[in-house]
Order: sequence, then structure tokens, then C-alpha cells
Amino acid sequence: MENAPRPEIDLVARCACGGVSVHAKGTVRSMLLCACEDCQKATGTGHSAIIIMRAGDVRIEGTTASFASTAESGAMLTRWFCPTCGTPLYGQSSRAETLVNLPAGLFGAATADWFVPSQLIFARSHRDWDALPATLPQHATYRARQPDV
Ligand SMILES: [Zn+2]
Ligand SMILES: [Zn+2]
Repeated sequence: MENAPRPEIDLVARCACGGVSVHAKGTVRSMLLCACEDCQKATGTGHSAIIIMRAGDVRIEGTTASFASTAESGAMLTRWFCPTCGTPLYGQSSRAETLVNLPAGLFGAATADWFVPSQLIFARSHRDWDALPATLPQHATYRARQPDV
């Protein structure tokens, strides 16, 4: 979206056990929801809520583990998580290696005043039981020129 908000953030989040911290400082490039089946598995619910930032604006401290698989887009998507508590930390696509995807929920209450998803992607696998605002634009897969998530 041409006029989508791009908040400036400077936040630190920790995984559930406290072993890993994620420092995000910079401009949010995009905010969206994704209902692909990988995100449903990763979150245990109907969609993920994603903050996209430049990889250089995100710093990770602590020991992480990762799992890479071919995303529905055909790109290789790697998801990092805490090996102790399993909290999802960030993801990166082989199609957009300068960007990272951060789970909005990782930052908890700190997202309350600025996280506004602009769209739902992979709506083709969205489940009816996962209620979303009717006004949210939905795309069967990606909106044109949307970075991979
Ligand atoms: Zn942890
Ligand atoms: Zn997804």
C-alpha cells in the first residue's frame, strides 16, 4: 500500500523462557496477517501476525534453532525459534534476504498503539473459525510485489 503506515520502533522482546532477546530498531516496512498453512502450524492458530523489517535493523541475542522448508510461494523459508521454550522469533525468505519477519505477538503490549495489519495474505487457506475484520483486504496468495513471508 502506497500510504500504509511505517512506524519507527525501538523495542526489545524476550522469548517465554528469557533465553533469547530480539532487538528491533528501525522502520517497520510492512505489517500483515498470513493464513498460509505453515503459519497455522507455527502459531497453532488461524493466522500469523507479522512485522516486516530490514534484517540489519534486527539483532538477536541468545541461542536459537531453526527449521527451513519450502514455503507455499516456492521460496525457502527459514523460521528461527528458541530451542528451550519454542517461542517463534523470526523468519526469513530466500526471496527477500534483506528482510526479516517478526511475530507481532512476540512484542506483546508494546505493539498496541502501532501494529495495524494492512492485509491478509494466503487467504485461500484461511479458516472460517478464525474471525477477522471484514474490512481487512484479503489476497488468495500474495498481493503483487509483496515480500515473502
Ligand atoms: Zn526461550
Ligand atoms: Zn504464512
